[in-house]
This record gives sequence, structure tokens and C-alpha cells, in this order.
Amino acid sequence: MTTILDPKIQPIFDQVLRRNAGEPEFHQAAREVFESLGRVIQRHPHYAEGSVLERICEPERQIIFRVPWTDDAGRVHINRGFRVEFNSALGPYKGGLRFHPTVTLGTVKFLGFEQIFKNALTGMPIGGGKGGSDFDPKGKSDAEIMRFCQSFMTELYRHIGEYTDVPAGDIGVGGREIGYLFGQYKRITNRYESGVLTGKGIGWGGSLVRTEATGYGTVFFAEQMLATRGKTFEGARVLVSGSGNVALYAIEKVHQLGGVVVACSDSSGVVYDRDGVDLDLLREIKEVKRGRLSDYAEIRGAASEYRPTGTIWSIAAETKIDVALPCATQNELDETAAAALVGSGVSAVAEGANMPCTPAAVRVFSEAGVLFAPGKAANAGGVATSALEMQQNASRDSWSFEHTEERLAVIMKGIHERCARTAEEYGEPGNYVLGANIAGFSRVADAMLALGVV
Ligand code: GLU
Repeated sequence: MTTILDPKIQPIFDQVLRRNAGEPEFHQAAREVFESLGRVIQRHPHYAEGSVLERICEPERQIIFRVPWTDDAGRVHINRGFRVEFNSALGPYKGGLRFHPTVTLGTVKFLGFEQIFKNALTGMPIGGGKGGSDFDPKGKSDAEIMRFCQSFMTELYRHIGEYTDVPAGDIGVGGREIGYLFGQYKRITNRYESGVLTGKGIGWGGSLVRTEATGYGTVFFAEQMLATRGKTFEGARVLVSGSGNVALYAIEKVHQLGGVVVACSDSSGVVYDRDGVDLDLLREIKEVKRGRLSDYAEIRGAASEYRPTGTIWSIAAETKIDVALPCATQNELDETAAAALVGSGVSAVAEGANMPCTPAAVRVFSEAGVLFAPGKAANAGGVATSALEMQQNASRDSWSFEHTEERLAVIMKGIHERCARTAEEYGEPGNYVLGANIAGFSRVADAMLALGVV
């Protein structure tokens, strides 16, 4: 897709495309930000000086390493590990690790780029980074996961630290993996440096609400969006794609606020549960048994409808949907899905995953006047609570669930306000994409300019 950008920034964007050939997701993420920035450069020409835009697109450091590990049968496997330390103008690099067979340097760069703006939007002192591996955790034993994590950390430890770079989880990396990674870090360095990783267990340096934070935060953000139109979650019918950590807690919060989540999904299919997803059962299967949705459907029996093929969004063609929360993975919601949601009368779409809506889908929403929030704003609750975990670690304190959840709610409200106010300032009220990009960029760019050419 060719994009016409402001003439001042078009050459910079062309250079980003050339420099990062073969990385379509990174191009997609960069294009979306550049499309918002023409007007900022016009209003504040000093951002064009000092090459801030060029610098922001080039990671400060990119690390690629070999991860050898041994399976239970004694066979040696090799995976590739990544950590992209993208921008540290606002604080130590901060962002998750993703273990998934599709992970490439391009994926990690797209996620790291998004993370810069997301973290800036939280208003907290955290830079942007991301990492991961093309390792596939699916079907691996606990011992294999542990050996892989130990090998991954044996290389990664030299690059991270509480003042340098603080990884956390993402797809394929949850509490179990963070435990194994932290254990190896501690062993190699002989330091109990709690603030080096977030998403730790509650008994050993973790924060209450961190597990729930991304899902809860997305719903808090969507609640604010609905409020701008005088609506609430009470009685709302909601689609939540995915059934991992983000989706599970988004479902929980929607139910707490009086909404009904009628479907969720995973790589084994979609479950359509007309009267509402059975969250206890879903959690038991996903979190305890590490099973699949097909197991959920088997136990639920006739109460729910299981569809091994097709996307969750097609349900919008059959029933009224008020809110959609894509919480699975990038580019999972295309323009056909968006059109089905619009046809169903959807009021708001908030991204719980990172960039789950394609650019064409986002266009469909905006043309139809549907409120749309990009992940860098709507799902920032996860990383924001990571920053709260770092605060607790630094002060050797631990806060109550209520206090931490309240902090999260206030942070999400703040992000919503920042996005909405900025969109209004730039003459496009309700355009959260524009608001998030400009507000996030301005905070990082101001810090970069203040720090000089580094
Ligand atoms: N992986 C999460 C995200 O995409 C959380 C990162 C973190 O807590 O550092 O924002």
C-alpha cells in the first residue's frame, strides 16, 4: 500500500521502508504513526529538526542470539532469541518477551516500536523495548520450558537490569516462564534484583493485579470510550477474541461491569455461548490444565456452540454486538470482520492485543463512526502495572489488590484523557489513533530533544 504523507516526513518514511526491508508488520506500525504526525510537524517544526523522527525509528540496540536447549529425549534444538532495545529517552527499556514460532526480528521491531508510544502514554518513566524467540511452547513439557528459559536467560542476562532493560511476559510467556527466567538471572548474577523482570509471582516480588492488568485495563479504557457516548457496559453484548491472559481478564471485568461476553476463541476454534461465557470453566481449562477451547466446549455441551473453523467476528453477522475487544494477536480482524461488526451496530472497539485490527478494518470503523482505540492506548494497563511492580520492588513494598487496581483505573483514565484531548486539539474529536500517536510521540520527542543527539 502506498501512503501519501506530509512532504516533510515522506522521505523519512521511505528510508524506514528501505532500511527495514522484509518487515511488513514494522512497516504497518510505522505507517500508522507517520500518518498521524504530519500535522504535529506543521504545528511544531522543531520536531523536524534534530532528526527526532529518524532517530525514533531506529532501535538503539538490536540483539539476536542463539538459544540451544535439550528436549526430554536428549535431542538438542536451536532457536533464535531477540531483544530490541528501541528507545530509552523516558526510562529503562520496558516491554515483554514473546515465545511463538512466528516471531522474527521484524515482529519484535513492530512490537518494540508500538511499545515506545504505549509506554509514553502511561505517563510513567519507562522506555520501549521488546524481545522473544521463535520457540514454540505448545506441547512442551514443564522441564523443556524450564531448560529453554534458562538457556534464553544465559545470554539475555548481560543485556538487562533494573536501570537498563526490564522484560516481562507476552504471548507464550506467563508467570511460569518469568519464574524460570528470574531464577536463572538470580543464579548467574548472584543478585536478588527484583526489578529486572516484571510479571513475577506474588510471593516473590510480583504485584497484585499484574496478571489481570492488560485485560482489566482494556475494559476500563473501553468504559471511558462508551461514556463519551453516554453508554456503559451494563447489558452490553461483547465479543472477546483469544482466551489467553488478556482475554480471560477482559472477560472477567466485562462481567463485573454487567456486560455479557458471548464468545471467545483460540487456535482450536471459536466458542459461541449465547448467555455468556462460563469464566470459571474457561479459566480452569486455560490456566490450570493449559488445554484448548475444544475441551471447554466438550464440558459445556449443548449450552455452547463450538466452531472449529471461521473467525469469532462472523458471530456479529448473527447477533447484536455492542463492543468488540480483539485480544488474540496482530491482524486478526480484517475489513470483512469490521463490516460485520459495523452491521451489527457495534459502538466501540478497543484493542487488547497489539495491532489486531488491519489498517483496512480501522478505516471501516472510522468511516462508520465507530469508536476505535488502538492497542498502544487501550492495552497499556499491562505495562503500566509492570511499572507499578517496579515501584513496589524499588521501595521493597507490596500494595493491596484494591489499591493497585485503583491505580490502574486512574492510569487508564489518564491515558484516555490524553488521547481524547489531543485528538480534539488537532480537530478530530474521538479519533483515538491520532490522539494516541501524537500524545505518545510528543512525550518521547520532547525527552529526546532535551537529551541531545544521543
Ligand atoms: N507484553 C505487554 C505489552 O504488550 C506487557 C509488557 C510489560 O509489562 O513490560 O504491553
